[in-house]
Amino acid sequence: MTQAQDGGWIPVRKDFVDLDTRCHARGNSRRHHGFPTGQAYILRDPAGHEYPFGEDCARAAVLHAGLLAQVPDYTERDVVSRLAEPGNLPPPARARRPTAAQAEAAQRAAAIRYLVLRMEKAAAVPRVQPTVRFAPLEAVYEQYQRTGEITTAQVRRILAIERSPTTPPRLRATNLLDVYTAHIKLERLIAASNSVDNIRFLRSLHDWLARHLVLSTAQLAAAGIEMHPQAFGSPGVWGPEDAAPAGSTGSLF
Ligand SMILES: [Zn+2]
Repeated sequence: MTQAQDGGWIPVRKDFVDLDTRCHARGNSRRHHGFPTGQAYILRDPAGHEYPFGEDCARAAVLHAGLLAQVPDYTERDVVSRLAEPGNLPPPARARRPTAAQAEAAQRAAAIRYLVLRMEKAAAVPRVQPTVRFAPLEAVYEQYQRTGEITTAQVRRILAIERSPTTPPRLRATNLLDVYTAHIKLERLIAASNSVDNIRFLRSLHDWLARHLVLSTAQLAAAGIEMHPQAFGSPGVWGPEDAAPAGSTGSLF
């Protein structure tokens, strides 16, 4: 997936970017646009440097547009607004059964996403609880950073760790995506706020998130964070007895 292809751009991931980021593509008639939703495709050039691209620009830059659908997507738990833009949606997955190669690519993307979430993105949240960074994944993470590759055996092992009964629900992929997404959104709100009281409140929520790896629906609403409708509602994250959509009636703290 990450081999250099004829010196072209290699899609690496879909991720959040700073709101003042500009697209790296500078087409003839195209303005050098920004990213109003704060999401971009990150592509790697032949020299190994990574740059942000809008979706259309990324499609134009890569060898096959289908490659964009195979990268780890770290923005999946953001608020679902792209449904309003039908032109932006890939064909429904159920329309065609995935080929073996597509299924393998999806597994690989899921494994890389979990590895990077656990060892880098959620682990980098300030004061995050130390259980996030997982010692048995250190070697494969270091290798992935160095080479951009993981083997099929490593894909299986990473996915097995994610699904293991010994992995707490709050450390599974979807909840870590929720943590990463809420972290990004809290940082943006803190950066944009002029009110000392509001910043203090947002920081307290951020600390809570870092310690507990969850925010309740009430906390999200109080902060003004829009996320996926099931954010922090993955099975088990609110405790073993919790089966209903979690946190919807949770108190603020
Ligand atoms: Zn662009």
